[in-house]
Amino acid sequence: MYQIIDGRKISQEIKDELKQQVAELKAQGKSICLAVIQVGSDPASSVYVGNKKKACAYIGIESLSYELPEETTQQELLDLVRKLNADDKVNGILVQLPLPGQIDEEKVIQTIAPEKDVDGFHEKNVGALCVGSRGYVSCTPLGIIELLRRSGIEIAGKHCVVLGRSNIVGKPMSLLLLRENGTVTICHSRTQNLKELTRQADILVVAVGKPGFVDDSYIKEGAVVIDVGIHRDENNRLCGDVDFEKAAPHTSAITPVPGGVGPMTIAMLTNNCVSSVQ
Ligand code: NAP
Repeated sequence: MYQIIDGRKISQEIKDELKQQVAELKAQGKSICLAVIQVGSDPASSVYVGNKKKACAYIGIESLSYELPEETTQQELLDLVRKLNADDKVNGILVQLPLPGQIDEEKVIQTIAPEKDVDGFHEKNVGALCVGSRGYVSCTPLGIIELLRRSGIEIAGKHCVVLGRSNIVGKPMSLLLLRENGTVTICHSRTQNLKELTRQADILVVAVGKPGFVDDSYIKEGAVVIDVGIHRDENNRLCGDVDFEKAAPHTSAITPVPGGVGPMTIAMLTNNCVSSVQ
C-alpha cells in the first residue's frame, strides 16, 4: 500500500509554526511586510495572489497589494519595484508571473533587491543555492524538500530523477536534492531513453508541464513520486503531470493533485518572508 503525501496537512503545520514565530517577532517589536504586485487580471494569477495574501494574513504577515492594469509599461513596473526596494517597511517583494507580453520578466526579476526576493528567482539567490551559501530558495522546490523531510523520506544516497529543467522548478529542485546528498539526474525534452532513466529513480520529481505525462511505465516499483504539475482536465478538474490512478499503486509514496505540492509553495513563500527578518 502506498502513502499519499498530504501537502495540505504539512503546509498547515508549517503555517502554524510560522504564526507562532511571527507572534514572537512581533513581541520583540519586529513586523513583516510583503508587497504583492499583480499586473493585469488573469483569473489563475488572481487566485494565486488571493491565496498568498490569505496565507500572509493567517500567519500575521502584512501584505501590501499593488494591482496594476494590463497595459502597465515595463518602466512603470520597474519604477514601482525600485520604490519598494528602497522602502524599509517592505521586507519582501513578489511579482506574480506571468507578466503581459510588453514586459521583460527577467528584467523585472533581476531588478528586485536580492534581499527582498522572497520567490528566490534573482540570479544572486540562484547563485547562492549553487555554491551553498545563504539566500532565498525558490518556493516550490523548497516545499518539496520539506514534504519529503516531514514524510520521513530519506534523500541522502538516493537516486533522484528530476523531469524538467525550468529555472523555477527543475533546476533549483536538482540543486536542493544535491544539497541533501541525493544522486541527481536531470531530464528534459532532449533526453534520450527517458523511461530508462526515470525507472532508475528512487525519488522521481515530475515538472514536465504536461497533464498525465508520467504513468506506471516510467516508475520503478516502490519509488517515491512527486507531481509538480497543475492543469485543468476536460472536466475542469485539477490534475497533475502524473497519471495518479496508473502510477500510485506502483509507488511507495506519491503526492496528489490537488493537495500535494501546490499548498507547499505558498507555505514556503511565507517561510521565506519570515526568514527575511530573522
Ligand atoms: P516549464 O517551464 O514548461 O518546463 C517544463 C520542462 O519539462 C522543461 O525543462 C522541458 O524541457 C521539459 N519537458 C517538456 N516536454 C518534455 C518531454 N516530452 N520529455 C522530457 N522533458 C520534457 O514548466 P515549469 O514552470 O517547470 O512547471 C512544470 C509544471 O509544474 C507545470 O504544470 C506548472 O504549472 C507546474 N507548477 C506548479 C507549481 C506549484 O506550486 N505546484 C509551481 C510551479 C509550476 P526543455 O527545457 O528541454 O524544454
